[in-house]
Amino acid sequence: MIPAPFDYHAPQTLAEAVALLAQHRDEAKVLSGGQSLLPLLKLRLGAAAHLIDIGRIPDLEYIREEGGQLRIGGRTRESALERSELIHRRYPLLADAAAVIADPLVRNLATVGGNLAHGDPANDHPAAMLALRAEVVATGPSGTRTIAIDDFFQGLFQTALAADEILTEIRIPAPAARTAGAYLKLERKVGDFATAAAAVQLTLGGSGAVEKAGIALTNAGPTPVRASDAESFLTGEKPTAERIAEAAKRAAAAANPTADRRGSVEYKREMARVLTTRALQRAIDRAGKAEER
Ligand SMILES: Cc1cc2nc3c(=O)[nH]c(=O)nc-3n(C[C@H](O)[C@H](O)[C@H](O)COP(=O)(O)OP(=O)(O)OC[C@H]3O[C@@H](n4cnc5c(N)ncnc54)[C@H](O)[C@@H]3O)c2cc1C
Repeated sequence: MIPAPFDYHAPQTLAEAVALLAQHRDEAKVLSGGQSLLPLLKLRLGAAAHLIDIGRIPDLEYIREEGGQLRIGGRTRESALERSELIHRRYPLLADAAAVIADPLVRNLATVGGNLAHGDPANDHPAAMLALRAEVVATGPSGTRTIAIDDFFQGLFQTALAADEILTEIRIPAPAARTAGAYLKLERKVGDFATAAAAVQLTLGGSGAVEKAGIALTNAGPTPVRASDAESFLTGEKPTAERIAEAAKRAAAAANPTADRRGSVEYKREMARVLTTRALQRAIDRAGKAEER
């Protein structure tokens, strides 16, 4: 319950934080909300000789639309997403996801950037961001670069971030007309990680056919899973009950979960199917009601 000793750094600027990371590289860890990192250190499942706390760096907490994108600062807290009128009105998938992450105490500290940078496929934002076709902005010693979300999750707890990079922003395409999403999660109790969860973002065309589809699953493999086959199966077609059912079957077939105390592989796959069906229905319903934007 007591972590191994570490040096604590509290840089006041992004440049200072990046310089510290570049200096200590693999010996250092970024500390953001601490909601995943601190339990790991306390349980000695991980160790870091240097913790670089990014909490005092200005301008890393914001939610705004700019340049045809939603931009979320890397240190934006879950509670800010949960309370944001913009998120509720324009990005219901994110509002759904933020509301089922952990509990209010954790959400007051945990950050969206930390949720992604941790690289845990059980976290809820990774699949949500896959469905939303987000991009991640990383800042390092040579400036910033943008990473497509499909290239970001590289393995269990492994991301495309280099040791000296900080996740500074998440960018999500602003929704076209008749676009909406939904996130549905099965958890054993409030605050638990997902037994299974499905993220869906859809655009409906004028004829009612699906113009674009983003579908992804949480806790369904070593990385979050994009259900590409289900996405292509829906695209260009009217989302009839039969088509939704088949798309959900295809999404579940992409899941490769492991058995644990939350359930067997078969149970989790079946829950992925059921939740994808319901998330598709909810997203279609919401997209149909979304105003012209
Ligand atoms: C009781 C409990 C229940 C939970 N339930 C859920 C749940 O249901 N769903 C869910 O999704 N999560 C859950 N979590 C996990 C937690 O909410 C997320 O992992 C959290 O959002 C991580 O963000 P953080 O800011 O606390 O990151 P930290 O704990 O500070 O950091 C996590 C990791 O990411 C790195 N990191 C953090 N920020 C950055 C950055 N900006 N740039 C580069 N690297 C960075 C750190 O170095 C560390 O390796 C739970 C946690 C607790 C304690």
